[in-house]
Amino acid sequence: MKTPDNTGLYLEEKLLNPSEIERLLLVTLAEGSTGVVNENQNPLAKPLIKKIQIKDITNADKVLFNTYQSQQFIKDGLEYLNIFKNPKDRYTLNKFENRILKECFIFPSDIKTTFNSIGGLKKTKVIMNELITLPLKRPELYKTGILKETTTGILLFGPPGTGKTLTARAVASQCGANFLNIQMSNVQSKWVGENEKNVKAIFSLARKLSPCVLFIDEIDALLQTRKGEFTPHYMVNTLNEFMQEWDGLNSRNDGVIVIGATNRPFDLDEAVLRRLPRRIFVSLPDAEARAEILDILLKEEVVGHSKEERKEILAYVASKTNQWSGSDLKNLSIASVMNAIREQIVEPDKKNEIVRIVEKKHFDMAFDSGDIVPSLNEKTGIIIQLQEWNAKYGTGAEAGGYSGHSSVFGF
Ligand code: ATP
Repeated sequence: MKTPDNTGLYLEEKLLNPSEIERLLLVTLAEGSTGVVNENQNPLAKPLIKKIQIKDITNADKVLFNTYQSQQFIKDGLEYLNIFKNPKDRYTLNKFENRILKECFIFPSDIKTTFNSIGGLKKTKVIMNELITLPLKRPELYKTGILKETTTGILLFGPPGTGKTLTARAVASQCGANFLNIQMSNVQSKWVGENEKNVKAIFSLARKLSPCVLFIDEIDALLQTRKGEFTPHYMVNTLNEFMQEWDGLNSRNDGVIVIGATNRPFDLDEAVLRRLPRRIFVSLPDAEARAEILDILLKEEVVGHSKEERKEILAYVASKTNQWSGSDLKNLSIASVMNAIREQIVEPDKKNEIVRIVEKKHFDMAFDSGDIVPSLNEKTGIIIQLQEWNAKYGTGAEAGGYSGHSSVFGF
């Protein structure tokens, strides 16, 4: 059947299976009945169908084709097309690169974090800006001369929940870079030799996606120190491949920055540390930073009855949360807002109030419940270990722990 408008659509040449024929007929019937009014308005009456014309079939075919195309678009991963510097690269990815793209890529539009969504960490933000934003935005400035080796990578280390991931994401969004979020599971394969191929794919993909932040969470798990003959073969191979790719990245400087995050920097292999000359301690926040974090976490909530009262309440909570991490403060904030909501439910006359007001007593209730406690404190072994490591190897940002290095650049 050739369409009357000569668009070149030949249904007879189409290979359709029975379910596709059924779908085509149903959509054709729908197309054919469009605009036909059932005059007796009886919902049980048989729908009136006007005479089916060829154009109804061709319209139905187009509708189905468009649906198929958009499904195929996602199936083929074409939604990734415009993230590549050179769109041709999208079609030439090997199966390892394709898998890493699907598992680890985060669309820049999905990253809502900016430096403004991070409380405290003032020095960290400054350092990240100086060391990363410019090299990512203007990689050509760093391709030659002494600056060639200034952008190898940055290590963010510190206790859990202090904003390391948040910082890496903010860097990417701040300079409009792509973001690859790599974890151990993305590299480890049960097949011999595939770990190395995954590592290769991570780096080659990052280059094709440049400017790109390659964020390696829990980098200690992936690149832990070699313990002589006790280290399994596959781990040594992965580590060696990683180092080799990393060196390639450094020598070319093509707008890819590696940011590693860890709670256990002391477990990292020496070779990895050499490639991460800037090591920034992201420590537990002080009182001022805690008030700032609370303000950010509760930015959409009404805290207190005035601006001044809000400030007072947040300062009060900050003073009572020594050694709490940002993520602990998040748990506390959720519990306190829940207390405010519970009160609204219990007091029925308040149920029509649109705004819930979080008051000091709601935070006190959360403290008193004993359910919300800091996950760490200064006496915890890990904090002491981190402080010691920072004093020896850190670049000296937050934490008040001066590292002994005279420059934020870590040389
Ligand atoms: P981990 O080591 O466990 O991976 P992390 O240091 O990467 O932890 P994040 O994942 O960045 O911690 O933070 C966890 C959550 O805690 C964030 O989503 C955020 O809500 C809150 N948070 C932590 N630190 C801050 C901060 N400085 N400012 C604002 N929110 C914070």
